[in-house]
Amino acid sequence: MLKSIAVMTSGGDSPGMNAAARAVVRTALYEGVTVWGIHDGYHGLLEENMVKMESKDVGDIIQRGGTFLGTARCARWKTPEGRQLGYKHLIDRDIEGLCVIGGDGSLRGASLLSKETGIPIVGLPGTIDNDVWGSDYTIGCDTAANTIIDAINKLRDTASAHRRVIVLEVMGRNSGWLALISGISGGAEYILVPEAPYDLEAICEDMKKAYEKGKRYILVVVAEGAGSAKEVGDFIAERTQLETRISVLGHIQRGGSPTVIDRVRASQLGEQAALALISGLSNIVFGFSKGHVVSIDLHDSVNNKKKLDPDYLHLSKVLF
Ligand code: ADP
Repeated sequence: MLKSIAVMTSGGDSPGMNAAARAVVRTALYEGVTVWGIHDGYHGLLEENMVKMESKDVGDIIQRGGTFLGTARCARWKTPEGRQLGYKHLIDRDIEGLCVIGGDGSLRGASLLSKETGIPIVGLPGTIDNDVWGSDYTIGCDTAANTIIDAINKLRDTASAHRRVIVLEVMGRNSGWLALISGISGGAEYILVPEAPYDLEAICEDMKKAYEKGKRYILVVVAEGAGSAKEVGDFIAERTQLETRISVLGHIQRGGSPTVIDRVRASQLGEQAALALISGLSNIVFGFSKGHVVSIDLHDSVNNKKKLDPDYLHLSKVLF
């Protein structure tokens, strides 16, 4: 049984990180274990920016986006010397295990720390991209998808009024999950993702035919990793001569009050992470599979690339 653990959020923030950290803190306290909150991710650990947490410190945060602990990117963590210093700062305070809530990069940094020092590590996938291998779900992806749907609904109204083509760029440098899921649920005609090749010339020919048959508008959702809205929109406008407008959602997708799904799942994951760490488990990431919490090997999780669900890809073509 560990007596003292720490929790941090790292990398890109995502709605629901607060719920996860809150659950880690309150579960540890419930189990009679000391719990530290590290501010600003690995950067804060190197700067010794950490405090012992009490239950009230995580009050009034479950409904907030962002992360009350703060997050950061930290180049020094990529060096063995940086990680050794971070380890020293943990053991100086008798912290025996660390929970890292973050994306792919943060989990990679955690995996290296555990390999090099042996300190128990449990990861939680916190990213809107839903791209962590071994889990169907990452903390924040549901809120981000709902933010995009809201934008799509509004864009459809104006697109229909003017018979326009709208190209909406959403986040996803390496993963098309957000584009795919929001495109399907928003009724997009075309969804462009980095994982699947597409033929924009053929799409333009289809669009022209659809407009000749009386279509009033077309919505294209493009993940940033599959091309920019500007490039795609300019190409479509030039080839089809249809009135085309672009919209780039940007960081709006990261913010906002978390959905019910993100709050509940993040809380479940936080509880499991704390219990696992306290019981001495290490090198695991908790995620969801088929609606249930599952544990995934940390090294497998960072060394494999998650694939887009082919059923969703197929569905997006069927529903066009
Ligand atoms: P995310 O966790 O959202 O994927 P990043 O990829 O920016 O965000 O990673 C967050 C932080 O995790 C980085 O700033 C760095 O401190 C650490 N990190 C990322 N990749 C590595 C790596 N290969 N080795 C060690 N640390 C890493």
